[in-house]
Amino acid sequence: MTYSYLPPKFLILIACVLFFAACGNSNEPKGGPVELQLYVDRFLQEAKSRGYNYAAEAENVTMKFGTLSDGQAGYTDATKSPVLITIDKLYWDNIGKFDGADLMKEFIVFHELGHGILNRSHENPLFDNGDWKTMMRGGDVQSDEKEWNVNYRGERRNYYLNELFGLEDSKNTPPFASLELLNDTSGFEPKYRLKFDGVEGDSPALQEDANRLAQNDAMGYAEKWIDNGLHIKSNYKGVYNVLASVGSNFRRNEDYAVEITFECATENNNDQFGLFTGSCVNDELVPGKNIVTLEDCSLDFMHINNNKKLYIGNKRWYSFYIQLNRKDDIKNKNTLKIINISNKLYYFINGAYSYSTEIGNAHQKGDGFGLFFGFSIPSCATIHVNDLLVYKRINNSNSAPQQVYAQTDHRLIFAGSQVSDK
Ligand SMILES: [Zn+2]
Repeated sequence: MTYSYLPPKFLILIACVLFFAACGNSNEPKGGPVELQLYVDRFLQEAKSRGYNYAAEAENVTMKFGTLSDGQAGYTDATKSPVLITIDKLYWDNIGKFDGADLMKEFIVFHELGHGILNRSHENPLFDNGDWKTMMRGGDVQSDEKEWNVNYRGERRNYYLNELFGLEDSKNTPPFASLELLNDTSGFEPKYRLKFDGVEGDSPALQEDANRLAQNDAMGYAEKWIDNGLHIKSNYKGVYNVLASVGSNFRRNEDYAVEITFECATENNNDQFGLFTGSCVNDELVPGKNIVTLEDCSLDFMHINNNKKLYIGNKRWYSFYIQLNRKDDIKNKNTLKIINISNKLYYFINGAYSYSTEIGNAHQKGDGFGLFFGFSIPSCATIHVNDLLVYKRINNSNSAPQQVYAQTDHRLIFAGSQVSDK
């Protein structure tokens, strides 16, 4: 199975409820496809668990699949009786191919039922951190500054459901939307560092790692060289990803951090580039022995672009979780850092805390997975990497200071370039 790494722009242009008269078809069947009814039932259950019973209102709603235009994913026609909700079949089938399909399907159905059962209209307020305040965001005109994607997962999902049913005070800011960093991210020490500047004293092992990263790939997708930093010029008409494994001493489910400092010249200011980290089914890359593709991996990313926007997501999902504007934080040259604490990720740009959210779901069993990380380069762009770091958390402050850098077991055991499949 293949999927394109950067899916089509996530267009949930959900049309406003129509209030003007339309010729209604009074012979619409009740209910709808079982696949959709499942989410209607779940909606009623979520309402019930919050003390509401909308069974009667749900009787007056019909769900169906159809073909919607202009990138709409769902459409509620409240002029009909029963109220008619149409879900775009192509969109539904597309999101079904990706991780997070159940949540995305739930989101679109619940949003439409927000119109069709709760009589809610679109509202587009934001928290200061950039999260939407309600899953009823939307409208006819998509803002140039903000994508419609809602990070509808984990603790945020519970908030959005409470808000949907009117149980959140709009004056309150839930912890996830705080601009303050609410966890202790101290105690991380760099265990691996590549500076790519040929500093004297770099061990032969580190120089070997740097050279391996700078090897041109056999397919000719990119040119690479070291000249006061690592330069990669992508010739590929797609996203070029560099994937690395850091050795058996790093585990995905342990607290760690990865960091990269780079600048990226892109053809288009909307092109995304950035840092990712996660795990892959093969655990570790062994040169010449096994190959992993992006499909084998669950990789959480923070991408930016030269329009100074930040995108948080997981590469196995249909689209990014959320897009945030970070005009004050993003410079031409940026240090991106992702800290993992108890499977929650904290994202930093040039030292400034930017966002936090739960990791993607795949490959989280036990401690059997090694740590992977890497970076993405958009089509035909040139990236200049100055510094690349992997940190571990030092839990016991009484332990002897650990020698950092270039211990054999902290080496980058393989740096493989992976081109996204189209
Ligand atoms: Zn809507």
